This record gives sequence, C-alpha cells and structure tokens, in this order.
Amino acid sequence: MNPSAHETNEEPIVLLIDDSIDVHRLLAARLRNEPLVLMSAESGAEGLRLARELIPATVLLDLDMPEVDGFEVLRGLKDDPATADIPVVVLSGLTASQDKVTAFDLGAIDYITKPFDITELRVRVRSALRMHNLVQMLAQRAQIDGLSGLWNRAYFDHRWEEETAAVARHGRPLTIALIDLDHFKSINDTYGHPAGDTVIQGLAAIVGEETRASDICCRYGGEEFAIIMPDTAPTDGVMLCERIRQSLKAKQWARHPNRQVTGSFGVVGVSEGGNVNISKEEWLEKVDQNLYKAKKNGRDRVEVTDLSGAPVRLADTG
Ligand code: GH3
Ligand code: MG
Ligand code: MG
Repeated sequence: MNPSAHETNEEPIVLLIDDSIDVHRLLAARLRNEPLVLMSAESGAEGLRLARELIPATVLLDLDMPEVDGFEVLRGLKDDPATADIPVVVLSGLTASQDKVTAFDLGAIDYITKPFDITELRVRVRSALRMHNLVQMLAQRAQIDGLSGLWNRAYFDHRWEEETAAVARHGRPLTIALIDLDHFKSINDTYGHPAGDTVIQGLAAIVGEETRASDICCRYGGEEFAIIMPDTAPTDGVMLCERIRQSLKAKQWARHPNRQVTGSFGVVGVSEGGNVNISKEEWLEKVDQNLYKAKKNGRDRVEVTDLSGAPVRLADTG
C-alpha cells in the first residue's frame, strides 16, 4: 500500500450514543440526506463498545444516560488511544454551564443543547467530520516520507511489528524485501545531489507501480527501501523484486541518459509462518545479510531465504 492509495471514498460513520429512541428516530430522519452512515447505540456501555469496534469519524453523545453516562463514555473514549482522536459532539439536555465546561475539559469538540435546531445540528456534524478529516490527514502526513511519497521509517517500524506478530499468531505467509541502490554515492558525486533525489523518486515510482495495494512500501533510510508483503510467500516476493530490478535497470534518466541505475535486493520470508518462530529483529538481520550478499555477489541482483526451509526458485536473472 502506498500512502496515496490509502484514501477511501467511503461515507464516514457517525455513531449516535443516546438512550432516547426519539432522538435516534429524529436524527435518522434529519441526517438521511447527509453523506454519512449513522450507527446507533442506546446505552453508554454499548456506545463505548461500538466506538472501539467501528472507530467512527464522529460520535454524537448524550450526557444524561442511566448507568454509564456521557461523561464516563467521553472519558473512556479519550483514555483509549484507538478512539482518543474521534471528534465528540455532545448533545445534551443539560444546560448548566458546569456541564459544558466538564464536557469540553474531557475533550468534547462541540456541545449542542436539546431541543436542537436541526440545521445547526447538520452544520455542526459537518464541521466535526471536517475536523476528523484534518486529523486523519495530519496523522498520515507524519508517516510519509517527503521526498519519495512512500511510508517513512516510523510507519515501517509500526507495521513490521504488526505483520510479524500476525505471522506468529496465524501462521500466514509473509515476505520482506530490502532494496539498496548500487553505487548511489557516485550518482550524487557525478551528477549532483538533485540527480540523486530524482533517482530515489524514480525508484519509488517503480515500486509503486509494481506492488499490490496490500504491500507496504517504505523508504527505510537514505537510498534504502523496504517492502513488506503480507500473505506473500518468498517465491512471489522474489518475482516482484525481479520486476522492480529489471524495470529500474531499464529506466533511462533525463539527467544522465547514458548511466543506468541498478539496485540490490535482500529478500526473506515464510511460505507458512506457523512453524517459524524468530523475532522481528532477527528477521531484519537476515534481510540485511541477504542484501549484503547481493552486493558481494556483484550487485543488481536478488538474494532470498525462505525461513520455512523450503527452497526458493530464483527467476532467471538477466
Ligand atoms: P553500494 O552499492 O555499496 O550501496 O554503494 P553506495 O554508494 O550506494 O552506498 P553508500 O552507502 O556509500 O552511499 C549512499 C549514498 O546515498 C550516500 C548518501 O549521500 C546518499 N543519500 C542518502 N540519502 C540521500 C538523499 O535523500 N538524496 C540523495 N541525493 N542522496 C542520498
Ligand atoms: Mg546504503
Ligand atoms: Mg547503496
């Protein structure tokens, strides 16, 4: 997955948490034409559970509810990192200034008193959804590498942890590739740093074209890239790397048309993860060793290991 392929056109989920059936009916009717999906919870406890399950784009929250009240729900949402950033609009019959202060202190972004003006409610919901988009966009930007447009190292670290844990749990296949540009220092030295930058962007574009939506493409550091391939056996990972390798080698560069650029690839994976028990760090060490081997064996090549022990057929390296 590329950051650019990450956006969705799905309608945002708005979760209404209110113990009054009348409020649910009213809002369902009045928000019917808005581009959103309205989900309902009729108690605080159910609201918290649904919020964690759905991660809605906005929560509309009643304060006065039996048992788990709105303040408690708000605290629960803000205490959980998974739900902490969801904008919460309080819908309340409580008009005391202290209730508003408490709600805002707990992290609500807006407060509407019942009975509410329906036009005002609509624009406030839209405003909360805009806030949600902005937060999402900023969070995503913090994980994107500026030069290549791929995911950055911080995002890689986070996803790598998740994906290796999933392999240990479910025994699914997983493959990782590390790519390092060959003699890249000499591109910089000969044609200038901007030419080097263009090569980094060019490789990022090739990686983006060749990978699937489920692959996680990252700039690992300087002139090194990492591709995490979930549900992919090393044999298939190698085929992908071969396509990237050949496409990179065949590319003609406007700034240095007579100088090709190549890359070396270290690949490690498991065809079935169930019986493989190595840490995420050990896994990375092995990819690094394969990359080093590719450099030592002449560069512009792919070296691969299947941790499940199965031999990997290498495609014809031409
Ligand atoms: P090898 O084939 O062994 O990998 O040799 P190399 O020259 O590619 O490796 P080396 O590690 O010696 O040099 C990497 C160079 O990549 C040095 C560094 O200045 C350059 N580099 C790292 N990040 C960037 C960047 O963002 N832009 C540019 N233009 N150069 C970069
Ligand atoms: Mg390097
Ligand atoms: Mg290099």
